[in-house]
Amino acid sequence: MAYAVEPHQYTLRKPIRFGGIGLHSGDMVNMTIKPAPENNGIRFFRHGLGGKHFVQAAMDNVIDTRLATTISDKNKKIIVSTTEHLMAALLGFGIDNADIELDGNEVPIMDGSAGPFMHLLMQTGKQKQNASRTVLKITKEITYTSGDSSLRILPFNGFKIDGEIIFNDEVIRTQRYAINLTGDRFAKEIARARTFGYVEEVEALWEKGLALGVNLSNAIAIHWDKKSVLNEEGLRFSDEFIRHKMLDLVGDLALLGCPILGHVTACCTGHTQHLAFMQAIARATDCWELVEMNSNGKPAAIKRSAMTSTTTSDLLIPFFRPALAQVALAPVC
Ligand SMILES: [Zn+2]
Repeated sequence: MAYAVEPHQYTLRKPIRFGGIGLHSGDMVNMTIKPAPENNGIRFFRHGLGGKHFVQAAMDNVIDTRLATTISDKNKKIIVSTTEHLMAALLGFGIDNADIELDGNEVPIMDGSAGPFMHLLMQTGKQKQNASRTVLKITKEITYTSGDSSLRILPFNGFKIDGEIIFNDEVIRTQRYAINLTGDRFAKEIARARTFGYVEEVEALWEKGLALGVNLSNAIAIHWDKKSVLNEEGLRFSDEFIRHKMLDLVGDLALLGCPILGHVTACCTGHTQHLAFMQAIARATDCWELVEMNSNGKPAAIKRSAMTSTTTSDLLIPFFRPALAQVALAPVC
């Protein structure tokens, strides 16, 4: 299965259920991912509120990017935190349409990676749908920089990411990873990488009543001495940290609402920069086009009505509704 060149939309074959604690609250959360019709996208529902209220997994619904990505509907009836690992698994497995029901405000953190989501998605399988996929095809470079963080996307006939992180310690140091997300590379190389943090930072968060669900079964804890990890089992990959950062990036970029044809380079970024980058992309309307894929996986059938309309931004809804949050932007295209 090549990422983003499948011409058709997909949903799950049948519902999948997960249970686990939430990263912030530490409370038990039950989650069911259900198949959904064509052009539905990914929507989150709150158990007990009925089918009317939901929040679409979209960048304009992001309300918080500290520690994790949090989305909400306009009335704040439904708040869903820590969307990134689940969204990465859905995108990595090629699911376009799903309805997700939760009985809490958080996606369960599971083991701190997207591995458990990916495992059950692969076991369950996906169902091909008739509707064509809409794909964001980058046609010119778009960049975003903020302090030491930078993100760039270039035209590329696939989805490729180069990532780099620089930490001042002896465990992470500088790590780089490059991946062309084709076939099962996401599942094998990225999905199982866990979230991480420094012990003293986690303790400070606990004192503020945050990150109450974090423990050694769902995060890599870097020791006080910054030379080792506390987890007895050690690391899953020697460069697990950069792999997890790329998992977060994939999961956040999934909030654009459709797959990307482009080559992303990310240096020292987190959820806040990912959101600002998506906003920069959304505004750079002459640097991309929406395409459909023909049966041999090549971009075709450009949606010319959208490209030539004088109300382009309206026609792009729901793909790139500019977020309401104002973040300093530096798009260069
Ligand atoms: Zn993460």
